[in-house]
Amino acid sequence: MSELFIAARAIVGGEERCEIGFLVENGRFAKVGDAKTLALEAAHHGTPTRRFPEDRVLIPGFINGHSHAYQVLLRGWADDWGFDRWRSDALYRVVPQLTPDDIYWVFLFAFSEMLAAGITTVAEFFYLNGEGNARAEAAIRAARETGIRLVFARTWMDAAYAPDAYRETIADARSRSEALLSRHSDIHFCVAPHSLHAASPAMIEAAAAFSAEYDCMLHVHVAEAAYEGEATLREHGVTPIRFLDRLGALNERCVAVHAIYIDDEEKRLLAERGARVIHNPMTNQYLGDGICDISSLHALGVPLGLGTDADVKPSAIDEMRAASLLQKIARTDGAAFGARAAFDLATASGARALRVDAGRLEEGAFADFVVLDARGIDPWAPAVNALVYRGEDAWVQGTFVSGRRVAGREPSAAASAAREHLRSIAERLIP
Ligand SMILES: [Zn+2]
Repeated sequence: MSELFIAARAIVGGEERCEIGFLVENGRFAKVGDAKTLALEAAHHGTPTRRFPEDRVLIPGFINGHSHAYQVLLRGWADDWGFDRWRSDALYRVVPQLTPDDIYWVFLFAFSEMLAAGITTVAEFFYLNGEGNARAEAAIRAARETGIRLVFARTWMDAAYAPDAYRETIADARSRSEALLSRHSDIHFCVAPHSLHAASPAMIEAAAAFSAEYDCMLHVHVAEAAYEGEATLREHGVTPIRFLDRLGALNERCVAVHAIYIDDEEKRLLAERGARVIHNPMTNQYLGDGICDISSLHALGVPLGLGTDADVKPSAIDEMRAASLLQKIARTDGAAFGARAAFDLATASGARALRVDAGRLEEGAFADFVVLDARGIDPWAPAVNALVYRGEDAWVQGTFVSGRRVAGREPSAAASAAREHLRSIAERLIP
C-alpha cells in the first residue's frame, strides 16, 4: 500500500517548503523530498499520486496530549463554577451514570470534533472505569471507528472520595490494564494513576512498577492547584514532584499533566529524570487553575506537549495561541514563547512527550498530516505565525492518519448521528 502526496507548500521541521513530495508506505512516510523526483519514481512504479495546490498547506497532524473526551457533555450547564463544585456537582455526579453505549457515542462525537480540527493523535486520560473494561472498550471502539490515533491512558484511582464506579483495588486496576494491553497492542496503552490526591501512594508505586514492567508511559495529573502542594507537603513532608520521585514514578516514562505549582528545583528534577509535561492552557484558564511555566521547562529541555483537557473546545490552534500568549503575559515580555515554539508543542515536541512517532513530516514517522486552506494566510506572513496567531479550525480541509483521509470539512454521518445521541444522553443526565 503506497501513495504519493505532492504539496505545493508544506511545513517540514518548522520551516515552509515548496514543491515537496511525501511517499507513504504502510502508514508511514517512506520518502520525503523533491516533488519532481518522487513524481517520476511514482509514475515509473504506477504509484497513485495526489497533489495539493498553492492554496493548500500541508502540516503535521496535531498532537493532543491530554483529553477527557466525555467532558463535552458538561459544556454550557457546568460553565463558570469553581473547581470544587465543577468536580463534585458535574463530573462526579453525572459521569458515573454513563453506560458503555453512551460512552461510545460521546467519544465518537468528541474524537470526530478533534479530527475536524486537525488533531490526529489524542491521549485520552480515561477514568470512566467500572463494569470491568466494558467502558474502556467502548471508548477504544469509538477511536478505531473515527480513525484517530489513540494513546489510551487508563486511570487507576482508589481515593475514598472518588465515585464508587471508578474506585478500584490495585489488583483489579492491574489485571484490567493487563487485559486491555494484551487485547489492543496497536493502541499506545499507558497507565494513569489519577493524581496524588485520587490515587494512594501504594497505587502510584504499583502503577510505576507496571509502567516499568510493560515499558508503557505513566500519565498523572500533578500540581494543577495550589492546595495539592500544601496537602502533599503536610501529609508526606515533600511537594508533589518530589513525592512522585520518591514513589519511583518520576522518570522518562512519566507524563506529568499540568505541573503548574512547582518550584525551580522541581522543574530541574523533571528535566533530570527525563519526565515530560503536558500543558493545557485553555482549560487552565477556563477552570482558573494558573499558568504552567513552560518557558523555564522548555529552556531546561523538558519534552512538552499541549492538551485540550476539558474539551470545552478541542482545538490545537487555540491551545497553541494560548500557550504563547499566556507566557507573554506571565512574563510581561512579548518575546516570550513565540509562534514556532508553540507550533512545536502541538506537533513534534508533543509527539515526543507522548513517545509517539508522529507530529513531523519526516521519513519514518506515521503519515499523520493535515491539509489547510492557505487562503487566510497573508502572502507576506510565515504560515506557522499565521496559524498560531490568527488561524482557525475551519482552515482544516482534510485530516489524514496513516496516510488515510479520516475527516474533511463536512461532518461524517457517524459524527452527525453521535450529536443526536448526545442530545438524548444530555436530556437524561443533566440536572
Ligand atoms: Zn485532566
